Amino acid sequence: MGNDDWRRLLCPKCKQLKTTCTCPSEPPAPSKSTVVRVGRETKRRGGKGVTVISDLPLDEKGLTELATKLKTRLGTGGTFKDGRIEIQGDHRDRVVQELEGLGYRAKRAGG
Ligand SMILES: [Zn+2]
Repeated sequence: MGNDDWRRLLCPKCKQLKTTCTCPSEPPAPSKSTVVRVGRETKRRGGKGVTVISDLPLDEKGLTELATKLKTRLGTGGTFKDGRIEIQGDHRDRVVQELEGLGYRAKRAGG
């Protein structure tokens, strides 16, 4: 606890302090107080399941961009609707990693 605080001050790309970093900003600066939830749903997909990302502090454009980015990185399909991103398959651990790499606080949720 608290050990990760310094990491949030660093740019995930160049590892410089964000105040000195010159990288183009990623998705519209995520709200640091928001924890993104990464859960799973199996009901509608014949048991295979989808990874559901909710509580994202993004508008529709931001969601579209993030969904595209995650699909590319994970090499799988996905969609977004009702303010949530759904990625095909159970990729919760990877999705949490990717989100944290983008500067979000992400938490694996559900079973
Ligand atoms: Zn940077």
